[in-house]
Amino acid sequence: MLSNSHIDGKKLIGELESLLNEIHRYSDTINQYVITSSTDLDGTITSVSQAFCQVSGYSKEELIGQNHNIVRHPETPPELYRELWQTLQAGNTWQGEIQNLSKSGESYWVTANIEPLKNECGEITGYIAIRQNITDHKYIESLTITDELTGAHNRRYYNQILQPEIDRAKRDDVFLCFLMIDADNFKKYNDTYGHQSGDEVLKTIVSTAQSIFKRAGDYVFRLGGEEFAVLFRTENPEKAALISEHARQAIYDCNIEHSGNSPFYRITISLGLMILDPTETYIVEEIYKYADEALYKAKENGRNRIEIHKTDNEIELF
Ligand code: GH3
Ligand code: MG
Ligand code: MG
Repeated sequence: MLSNSHIDGKKLIGELESLLNEIHRYSDTINQYVITSSTDLDGTITSVSQAFCQVSGYSKEELIGQNHNIVRHPETPPELYRELWQTLQAGNTWQGEIQNLSKSGESYWVTANIEPLKNECGEITGYIAIRQNITDHKYIESLTITDELTGAHNRRYYNQILQPEIDRAKRDDVFLCFLMIDADNFKKYNDTYGHQSGDEVLKTIVSTAQSIFKRAGDYVFRLGGEEFAVLFRTENPEKAALISEHARQAIYDCNIEHSGNSPFYRITISLGLMILDPTETYIVEEIYKYADEALYKAKENGRNRIEIHKTDNEIELF
């Protein structure tokens, strides 16, 4: 005959077994579907889930012992990693979106929650990260802020980032520049060469501008029609004027025939530049207005030129 305690013991073991089974089921699911990894203090990978292997294209063996920067995307600004490490080393959780690179060179986006692992004494012994794949979401988001024809950022994105960029430039104590660009006598170009050729010119203007304004934090926009804008940061106003002039010259040098654009007879652009002093405060509408006024002046003064707005008066540099 079995004693009561024996029956209770059997019951307990049964409960423990089902609990363990449940834990295994959970950990199998996590392993399969959640992109997790842990690293030591130097960022050397100590464990990864199956889901991490799947999204990164690396096997477990290839990942363990490697530094986590094996999936670092070259376009990720170094400041992001600097801020990430500062947060973690201070013992806090870092949360944010990161672009990663898979073994085959494809980029994927994740939201990551990374937190420090601590021992009984509260010392950090490593880090653990849980991520969610947001690549599809990012792709859709990028479509909503991109101009379809030229691939430049669209007006929606301009409206979205102008204020944060003004704030950021003020914080970093650098000059933020707003450069408006408008193709000269473009209506005549369409009339002469056709709308489709006109579209090709618009693409050339964007790709030329993108090849010049290519630093992290530079933005090329198509604000509408044949009107473009560039937002960029500079250490001093003279440099801003020089690089803007360089953009004007680069379009001129494309040497695209335009018989109706006298006296140049090739595609040219006019530019209006507004330089924001980090010590001053601006209203966003003002920035557009002043750059547009400078652009208008460039048109009045003969096109294929740049005019610069200064707080009190507009000056001609070229
Ligand atoms: P200005 O030198 O004073 O700027 O003269 P403009 O003829 O370029 O200026 P205006 O603003 O009068 O005309 C802009 C023209 O740009 C009108 C239109 O034919 C053309 N345009 C606007 N959007 C597009 C576009 O998406 N594709 C093409 N091909 N042309 C466009
Ligand atoms: Mg025009
Ligand atoms: Mg125009």
